[in-house]
Amino acid sequence: MSRIVVLGSSSGMPDSTRACSSILIETNNNSYLIDVGEGCASSIIRHNIDPEKIGQVFVTHTHSDHSMGIFMLVQMMHLLKRKKNLDIYLPEEALFWFENMFDAVYLFQDNLSFGFELKPINIDFVYQDEDLILKAFPNQHLLSNEDFIKEQSLTNKMESYCFLIEIDGKRIVYSGDIAGIEDIESQSEGVDFLLCESTHIKVEELVELASRKKVKSTILTHIHDSMDKDKTSIVMMGKKHAYKNIVFAYDGLCIDIK
Ligand SMILES: [Zn+2]
Ligand SMILES: [Zn+2]
Repeated sequence: MSRIVVLGSSSGMPDSTRACSSILIETNNNSYLIDVGEGCASSIIRHNIDPEKIGQVFVTHTHSDHSMGIFMLVQMMHLLKRKKNLDIYLPEEALFWFENMFDAVYLFQDNLSFGFELKPINIDFVYQDEDLILKAFPNQHLLSNEDFIKEQSLTNKMESYCFLIEIDGKRIVYSGDIAGIEDIESQSEGVDFLLCESTHIKVEELVELASRKKVKSTILTHIHDSMDKDKTSIVMMGKKHAYKNIVFAYDGLCIDIK
């Protein structure tokens, strides 16, 4: 049976018990890593995940808590003498910078035990193989940087994506980071699993949306310390909106896709 494993459930603030954002989707044949935040490689070891099985990495946006684990992941795979190729899908704007960063940290592509390739995610992105379909849809998370980027004449394109994943006849929405629940509104209708960040949204609006859209299971992740202390009020929100199926993610949480 396929499953989701939460490898990193913290917000952008490092946490003593949580790695930064990362989830694994594991099928019989393959594993897919969705976001690869700082601490991801350690978390893979801590939770007895087989790194050899990971064939693809998908990054929603380049904030460090979603992307900076990629270098240690590749280093770990090289030290484990991996042979299988790895495909790393990143927002298109990031390819140039990450290619150079691999050289900066001495992970030269032609000098590793395995090949890896950086590939673009853009607005029409669809990945498909025999086990899974993953579609990207854009969100507004990085748009708050717009004025600064213009003022400074920077080249950043503020690309940030949510993912809709279809596997074993089930649908999963992974929010990445968003600007508000409007960013996931149109894709959430009746989904089986909604893995939603809880730092940049109003959680009550998410609970209301999950109830209204008949989401089967909502998994709150990207959890800030203050929320850890406030679980009771979220349970109360669930009661108010007649919605019970809220799970608080933690590192190592496994969810069967059934
Ligand atoms: Zn984040
Ligand atoms: Zn972010």
